[in-house]
Order: sequence, then C-alpha cells, then structure tokens
Amino acid sequence: MKPVAVVGLGSMGSRIARRLLDAGHSVVVWNRSPNRLEPLLARGAMAASTPRDAARRSQTLITMLADPEALRSVSEGPDGIAAGTHPDLVVIEMSTVGPAAIEALASLLEPKVQVVDAPVLGSIGEAEAGTLTILAGGSAEVVDQARPVLASLGTVVHVGPRGTGAAAKLVANATLLGTITVLGETLALADTLGLTREATANVLAVTPLAEQARRRLPLIQAGTYPRRFGLSLARKDADLILESAATSTVRLHALQTVREWLAAAENDGRGGDDYTATLATILGSGEGDRPPRSSGTNDVGYDGLIIDLDGVVWLGARPIHGVARALRHLRARGVKLVFLTNDPQHSRSAQAARLSAIEIPAAAHDVLTASAAAAAFLAGQERLAGARVLVVGSGALRDEFDAAGFELVAAADADTARLVIIGGHDQFDYGELRAATRAVGAGAELFATGRDPFVPTADGREPATGAILAAIEAATGATATITGKPEPHMFAIARDLLAGCARIAVVGDNLATDIAGAQHAGIDAILVLSGATSADELEHADVQPDLVLPTLAHLGTPSSARP
Ligand code: NAP
Repeated sequence: MKPVAVVGLGSMGSRIARRLLDAGHSVVVWNRSPNRLEPLLARGAMAASTPRDAARRSQTLITMLADPEALRSVSEGPDGIAAGTHPDLVVIEMSTVGPAAIEALASLLEPKVQVVDAPVLGSIGEAEAGTLTILAGGSAEVVDQARPVLASLGTVVHVGPRGTGAAAKLVANATLLGTITVLGETLALADTLGLTREATANVLAVTPLAEQARRRLPLIQAGTYPRRFGLSLARKDADLILESAATSTVRLHALQTVREWLAAAENDGRGGDDYTATLATILGSGEGDRPPRSSGTNDVGYDGLIIDLDGVVWLGARPIHGVARALRHLRARGVKLVFLTNDPQHSRSAQAARLSAIEIPAAAHDVLTASAAAAAFLAGQERLAGARVLVVGSGALRDEFDAAGFELVAAADADTARLVIIGGHDQFDYGELRAATRAVGAGAELFATGRDPFVPTADGREPATGAILAAIEAATGATATITGKPEPHMFAIARDLLAGCARIAVVGDNLATDIAGAQHAGIDAILVLSGATSADELEHADVQPDLVLPTLAHLGTPSSARP
C-alpha cells in the first residue's frame, strides 16, 4: 500500500493518523510543533521533514489544520505541499476552512494534483472510533479514488463538485453553533423569569432543545467544559459562515449573534475551552437574552463617517446587502456621511445618482471622487494653478480639471504640458501611454489619483489606476505623486466636508489605502471584510484598523435590522 500522509496532528489529525495506522496503512506524518509526532512514531508512523517531503513520499495526503491560514502556510513556499506534488498524488483537505480556501488550494496545486474537500462531522470520539461523517466534494472519480483511505475514518457522503463538501460543513456548523447559542439564551431567559434549573430542564425536555439540554446542563452545573472542539475554532467557523454569505443577499441575523457570543467568550479567556463554554459567557454575562456589545456593532459613537464605495457600499455592479438600510439608519440618528472613492472614472453626480438609485439619497456634494480631490489639491498649489495639464483619464477627470481652472492640452501637444494627471479609465490606450511618456520626458510633473492596482467586483478584479500608472512609470522612469488615498490630501478634503463633526471615522475595505491612509491622516479606521481584504490577510497585516466588521451593514444598525 502506498503511504498516506497526514499534515496537521492536532486533536483531529492525530486521531486520524492513528486510525490509518490501525487500519494497516503506511503513514507519513508532519506537524508544525514536532512534539505531537512522538506517539505516532511509536506506533510505526514515519516522520516527514516538511509538508513538501510529506507530499513527495505519499500517494494520498490528508490535511487537518486549524484554519485557512494554517492550510495556506503548509501549502505554499519552498517547503510547502505544492513544492512536493507529483502526478499520482491526491490531496484530501479535511479541516473546516470554507469553499474559498479549497479553491485557493486547488489553484495552487493544479493541474498536477487532484483535490478533494472532505471536512468532517463528529469530534474526537468519532475520529477515534472511525465513525466520522465525511462530506466529500469533488468529481465522482476523484472521490472514489479517495474512498479506500476515507473508509477507515468514517462514512463518506459525496455532496457534489469540489467545494461543496466545505460548504456543507459550514451549513452543518451553523446548526451546531446556533443551537448552543439558543440553548444559552433560553436558559438565561428562564433564569431572568425566575424558573429553577430543574423546572427549566423539565420544560426543555419536551422541546426541540431536549437533546442539547440533556447533554449540556450537567456541564453548566459542573462549570467545566472539557475541550473536544475548541471555542476559537468555532469562532473561526462563525467567521467563515458570515464571510461566505457577506457578498450575497441572504440575511444571517442569528448567526451574526452567534459569532458575537463566541467572540465574547474568547474575550472572557475561554478560547482554549470547548466551544460549549459559550454557555458560561451567556449565562454569566448578566445580560440575559441580549448579546454583548462586542467590537463594532451597534453604537460606535461616530458622528461623521467617510465611506469608501467599491467593496464597501457595492461590489462592482451589485450593492452589498444591508448597507443602504444601515446608512439610512445612521443618518436618522444624525450621523453625517461623505462618500469617498478612488474611482476616477465617474463624476460626483454620477456616483450620487448611483447611491440614490440604491436608496442612499446623495447629492454631488456628498461625494468626493479621486478626480475631484486631485483637481482641488493641485489647484490649491500656487505654482500649478491654471497650468497646462495632460489628462490621462475619464471625461469626469477632465471636467474636474477644467472646472478648477487648468488648461487642458491634447495628446499632440503633450510636450507643452506642465503636469500630467493619471486616473484609471477603461478607454486607456497606447496613444495615451505615449503622450504621457512624451510629456514627462519634456519635463512635466507626474501625478496620479491613486495606486490601487485593481478594484474588487463580484466577478473578480478589474484593473484600476495603479495598473495604468505602473505602465507610465515604467515608460518614463518617473515616480508619480499620489493625490488620492492613501495620501492625506483626500482625507483632509473629506474631513472639511464633515465640518462640525466631533468624532469621525473612515470606513474602507483596503488596508493599504483606506486604513493606512486614515491612520496617517489621524482619523479612526474601520475595515470591512466585504471587499479587497480577507480575514486571513488582516491577521498577517502590519496595518491594523481600529474596528473590523464583516460588512458596513453591521455598523450602527440595531440587532433587529442587521442583515
Ligand atoms: P487543533 O487541535 O487546534 O489542531 C490544529 C492543527 O493545526 C495543529 O496541528 C496545529 O499545529 C496546526 N496549525 C495551526 N496553525 C498552523 C499554522 N499556521 N501552520 C501550520 N500548522 C498550523 O484543531 P482540531 O480540533 O484538530 O481541528 C482541526 C480542524 O478540524 C479545524 O479546522 C476544526 O475546525 C475542524 N474540526 C474539528 C473538530 C473537533 O471536534 N475538534 C470537529 C470537526 C472539524 P500545532 O500543533 O503546531 O499547533
């Protein structure tokens, strides 16, 4: 039998490796912390020196790791799984990481290697006994290839194509985590109403919560929650659930609250306990059936918000669910809003019309585009006011410079320009690249509205100003001065538009532009995970916002109106 590798020997991975050994497989093991290897080596497993080595030496490789970041870290780089692949290898990903991480893994390993997502239902008892339910995603052929190995671990349920196993696992865990939260809040309600625990137990015994109450009440009584499924892992799953739904139209009010309780329990120092320790936080918080005010929900105390558009209010053509309602609610409470976008293609009035069309009433003066900010910033510089400018950009950018008193020059007269301004637009062509190169060659100063290389859309990335600027900088050897985010000029103009506000925050989806820019300008920064930045990227970023929310819909909205 060709060896099976197990990468990740935590509570679940170590038991999986042991089952495989007991079933007679030849097993290669790797774990980040080598101390977990010893008991398995003593049973005949062979140690791999790296995940790459594990892949090289096996025909089937199982990953069982904490989260998407752990999976990424064992997959990439010179020592990663991808570096050790060979055409006979099948990778079976069994952690709970969500469909996006499965796609990322597959695109890293393909075309050489087949990937099956096979997360599990059941915990350490089931892993030990080989009675896990394995939710497999992949073609029937690949799942069949994986079956002989998976059969030692439990029952395989083929859910559908690749990614569906990971999706099904999130669905299953939504019920698991939701049930514990409902049980906790139900018990808190009973306490508040003065029922004894015994009376409550008797009532719950004839409700849909009967089985959970029977299993959990003794733990609550004893005050101990022995770890089977770690609470921090459960919070990670709640994040994955919310992230997976963040850009869709579904409303997950209850699961948002579940996530809040798990985060609150983590804040209470229970992250290393079993996930059921959430019950202790719910019952001990003294807040009865009200979820805690965890970071970023409900009242955040800002009276002015500078709000990015792409990835925050909409994703490409699609409005982000619940944002319009949340903004109307904030306005009704007296919060002033200014919309700030590095998109230089559309005019302020066009952006305002688009906002109004999705029921966020706005006028041109409520919007600050990168084009308007560039024109205002450069017109404010005495040496440049009224100068001849070559505009490489949209009609909106030209209009703003025209209105600000600059003299626009045609491409044929590029070498007479005193300055060149670049703003991304979808008509960019070689003629513009050549004109900009000539102008800069003849001594014009180079400016650009931003450096964002792309904007996120529901269909993936669209090239933006930074991508065009890169071409012009490469051709000229010049480095542009940026007038938009993350430079402080644009934030300063936006702050002026919120005159009278005492506490202002920027809300954005991009760590490099919105968050770093806000912080340089001395303004609080709220990151939303509905656009350019994932939770994983945030975890490893140097720049850290003051607040993180799944989407802007989660800011300042009462729990009854959250998406
Ligand atoms: P665990 O005991 O916490 O083990 C986590 C594993 O991930 C360890 O091997 C750990 O290595 C490794 N790891 C973490 N961060 C890493 C990184 N950055 N690079 C490399 N390795 C890293 O978790 P578990 O209970 O076995 O759960 C594993 C997965 O199965 C999770 O996705 C969990 O949600 C899911 N799951 C768990 C249960 C359950 O009841 N426990 C049930 C179903 C599904 P170290 O030893 O070096 O820390």
